[in-house]
Amino acid sequence: MLLKCNFCDPVLTKEMRLNGLKNSKSINTETDQYVKDEKNKYYHVECYVQHLMKRKKMGEMEARDKLNVQLEKVQKELKEMEDKDRFYKWIMNFYDTALPAYFCTKISEIISGQYEKVNEPIPYTTLLDIYEMMATFLNKNAFNKSFKNKGQRMNYDLAVVLGKYGDYKSYKERMKNEQDKVEITKEALDDQNKINHVLKKKNEQDDEGFNLSDVLEDILL
Ligand SMILES: [Zn+2]
Repeated sequence: MLLKCNFCDPVLTKEMRLNGLKNSKSINTETDQYVKDEKNKYYHVECYVQHLMKRKKMGEMEARDKLNVQLEKVQKELKEMEDKDRFYKWIMNFYDTALPAYFCTKISEIISGQYEKVNEPIPYTTLLDIYEMMATFLNKNAFNKSFKNKGQRMNYDLAVVLGKYGDYKSYKERMKNEQDKVEITKEALDDQNKINHVLKKKNEQDDEGFNLSDVLEDILL
């Protein structure tokens, strides 16, 4: 995708347009490192620093700090776009259908936390995780029911999935606690290994029978 850089791509005046000048878009999202500001304007990374220093009168340090903040935001947005893509691909594959508009509307409400039946935003990755875990169940469950169309089944399944969100969270919490326990045991083992290693080293040195510090001690004492 090509984007207009708000620093190095010129803003065209009416006159310039009349003279046949075309809007240039010099950011290639495939190859260039770019950043977006609060007003959703895009910049090459270095152009953004220049923009902040020249137009916003920032010092270079401050400008680079700001750049990092905006870069992180762009990364987060990119990740969410990828997660969204993966989620909808899975859904289309599972139901073997195009996406009904009202289903997508509901999903975006759930993601943003505006859906009234859930009291917090649920990320795409979590939603997909629950769908994947419940896939077999959802199919079995639907087998005994008759739906007018796929859209109706998708809505029904979504309600089932959301109904399991609480269970999913406590399951994840339990898994995390188990994981923490494993980590602690692993750390303890690592410590024990270190001690064993030191002891082994010491024994080896003792076996050599000659130790410079022992000799020095003998001489000095
Ligand atoms: Zn630029």
